[in-house]
Amino acid sequence: MNTTYIIIGIVLVLWISGNLYRRHKNSSKVIHVDKNRCSGCQRCIKRCRRQVLETVEDETGKHVVVKYPDKCTACGNCLDKCKFKALKLIERKSYI
Ligand code: SF4
Ligand code: SF4
Repeated sequence: MNTTYIIIGIVLVLWISGNLYRRHKNSSKVIHVDKNRCSGCQRCIKRCRRQVLETVEDETGKHVVVKYPDKCTACGNCLDKCKFKALKLIERKSYI
Protein backbone atom coordinates (compact mmCIF):
# COMPACT_ATOMS: atom_id res chain seq x y z
CA MET A 1 0.00 0.00 0.00
CA ASN A 2 2.83 2.42 0.90
CA THR A 3 4.49 1.71 -2.45
CA THR A 4 1.31 2.79 -4.23
CA TYR A 5 1.30 6.13 -2.39
CA ILE A 6 4.99 6.64 -3.17
CA ILE A 7 4.41 5.97 -6.88
CA ILE A 8 1.41 8.31 -6.94
CA GLY A 9 3.50 10.96 -5.15
CA ILE A 10 6.37 10.64 -7.64
CA VAL A 11 3.98 10.86 -10.61
CA LEU A 12 2.33 13.96 -9.11
CA VAL A 13 5.67 15.68 -8.46
CA LEU A 14 6.85 14.90 -12.02
CA TRP A 15 3.58 16.19 -13.50
CA ILE A 16 3.67 19.42 -11.48
CA SER A 17 7.34 20.10 -12.23
CA GLY A 18 6.75 19.38 -15.93
CA ASN A 19 3.95 21.94 -16.02
CA LEU A 20 6.00 24.52 -14.12
CA TYR A 21 8.96 23.99 -16.48
CA ARG A 22 6.72 24.32 -19.54
CA ARG A 23 5.13 27.49 -18.18
CA HIS A 24 8.54 29.01 -17.38
CA LYS A 25 9.94 28.05 -20.78
CA ASN A 26 7.00 29.64 -22.62
CA SER A 27 6.57 32.71 -20.42
CA SER A 28 8.33 34.89 -23.00
CA LYS A 29 5.96 33.76 -25.76
CA VAL A 30 2.43 34.63 -26.83
CA ILE A 31 -0.03 33.34 -29.43
CA HIS A 32 -0.16 34.99 -32.84
CA VAL A 33 -2.90 34.62 -35.49
CA ASP A 34 -2.17 34.92 -39.21
CA LYS A 35 -5.52 36.36 -40.29
CA ASN A 36 -4.84 35.56 -43.95
CA ARG A 37 -4.85 31.85 -43.09
CA CYS A 38 -7.66 31.93 -40.53
CA SER A 39 -11.06 30.59 -41.66
CA GLY A 40 -12.87 31.80 -38.55
CA CYS A 41 -13.86 28.22 -37.60
CA GLN A 42 -13.43 29.06 -33.88
CA ARG A 43 -11.91 25.67 -32.96
CA CYS A 44 -9.03 27.48 -31.23
CA ILE A 45 -11.42 29.68 -29.24
CA LYS A 46 -13.22 26.64 -27.86
CA ARG A 47 -9.88 25.13 -26.84
CA CYS A 48 -8.53 28.17 -24.98
CA ARG A 49 -9.51 28.15 -21.31
CA ARG A 50 -8.34 31.71 -20.79
CA GLN A 51 -10.54 33.47 -23.35
CA VAL A 52 -7.53 35.04 -25.08
CA LEU A 53 -8.99 34.85 -28.58
CA GLU A 54 -12.02 36.48 -30.14
CA THR A 55 -13.75 36.35 -33.52
CA VAL A 56 -14.08 39.55 -35.50
CA GLU A 57 -15.51 40.33 -38.90
CA ASP A 58 -14.01 43.00 -41.11
CA GLU A 59 -13.51 43.74 -44.81
CA THR A 60 -11.34 40.61 -45.14
CA GLY A 61 -14.04 38.38 -43.63
CA LYS A 62 -14.42 36.48 -40.37
CA HIS A 63 -11.23 35.69 -38.48
CA VAL A 64 -9.78 35.38 -35.01
CA VAL A 65 -7.73 38.03 -33.22
CA VAL A 66 -5.69 37.92 -30.02
CA LYS A 67 -7.87 40.11 -27.82
CA TYR A 68 -6.11 39.60 -24.50
CA PRO A 69 -2.42 38.77 -25.16
CA ASP A 70 -1.59 39.33 -21.48
CA LYS A 71 -3.82 36.40 -20.55
CA CYS A 72 -2.05 33.98 -22.91
CA THR A 73 0.18 31.51 -21.07
CA ALA A 74 1.60 30.14 -24.36
CA CYS A 75 0.35 26.70 -23.28
CA GLY A 76 -0.01 25.72 -26.94
CA ASN A 77 -3.35 23.96 -26.43
CA CYS A 78 -4.95 25.84 -29.31
CA LEU A 79 -2.18 25.12 -31.83
CA ASP A 80 -3.15 21.60 -32.83
CA LYS A 81 -6.80 22.62 -33.25
CA CYS A 82 -5.96 24.81 -36.24
CA LYS A 83 -6.02 22.90 -39.52
CA PHE A 84 -4.89 25.95 -41.47
CA LYS A 85 -1.62 26.63 -39.63
CA ALA A 86 -2.86 30.10 -38.75
CA LEU A 87 -1.56 29.96 -35.18
CA LYS A 88 1.96 30.09 -33.85
CA LEU A 89 3.77 31.14 -30.71
CA ILE A 90 5.96 34.19 -31.11
CA GLU A 91 8.25 36.11 -28.78
CA ARG A 92 6.18 38.38 -26.57
CA LYS A 93 8.61 41.27 -27.05
CA SER A 94 8.00 41.21 -30.81
CA TYR A 95 4.24 41.44 -30.30
CA ILE A 96 2.78 44.67 -31.62
S1 SF4 B 1 -8.56 27.20 -35.49
FE1 SF4 B 1 -7.28 28.30 -37.00
S2 SF4 B 1 -8.66 28.72 -38.72
FE2 SF4 B 1 -9.96 28.19 -36.96
S3 SF4 B 1 -10.46 30.18 -36.02
FE3 SF4 B 1 -8.62 29.40 -34.97
S4 SF4 B 1 -6.89 30.33 -36.08
FE4 SF4 B 1 -8.72 30.52 -37.38
S1 SF4 C 1 -1.55 29.32 -26.20
FE1 SF4 C 1 -2.94 28.62 -24.55
S2 SF4 C 1 -3.53 30.46 -23.43
FE2 SF4 C 1 -2.62 31.13 -25.38
S3 SF4 C 1 -4.39 31.37 -26.78
FE3 SF4 C 1 -3.63 29.27 -27.05
S4 SF4 C 1 -4.82 27.99 -25.63
FE4 SF4 C 1 -5.08 30.16 -25.01
